[in-house]
Amino acid sequence: MIKKELEDAINAQINQELTASYSYLGMSTYFDELSLDGLASWMQNQHGEEQEHAMKLLNYLQDRGGRVQLAAIPSPQVEFNSILEVFEISLSMEIENTTSINELYDLALQHNDHATKSHLQWFLDEQVEEEKSMEDIIANLKLIGDDKAGLLYLNDKLGQRKAEEEA
Ligand code: MG
Repeated sequence: MIKKELEDAINAQINQELTASYSYLGMSTYFDELSLDGLASWMQNQHGEEQEHAMKLLNYLQDRGGRVQLAAIPSPQVEFNSILEVFEISLSMEIENTTSINELYDLALQHNDHATKSHLQWFLDEQVEEEKSMEDIIANLKLIGDDKAGLLYLNDKLGQRKAEEEA
């Protein structure tokens, strides 16, 4: 049986992953409205990944005999000032998420809950990837500046993500 304090923290993390998932879905609608299909599909993929993260935690909590509590998920932002802003917000969300995964890991350490530590290891590694991919896209967008051809190239490139991962 998992400790109550850890159960609460994992429930909060489930909510955070679902909130991120919903935020990325909101971002994908912004890109769809701009007819940037590649960026929209990249964000839909991101939406699916965050949902999977929530499910990994939810299933783990159930396996440990914890009680899942599904709190409300706020409506996501769907209007932005620029494409760059979308990815800057995404990066800050991921940094926040890394902080909360770290805090969850610290809590597991305090409780000597080795199974939870082991489960969270995957999330720690995943956060390194998440932050890096947002940073790379931000760097690309800054290089592109106002160059429409560059933007269309990035749109095509990011649109290939799903196909690559499924291959
Ligand atoms: Mg996540």
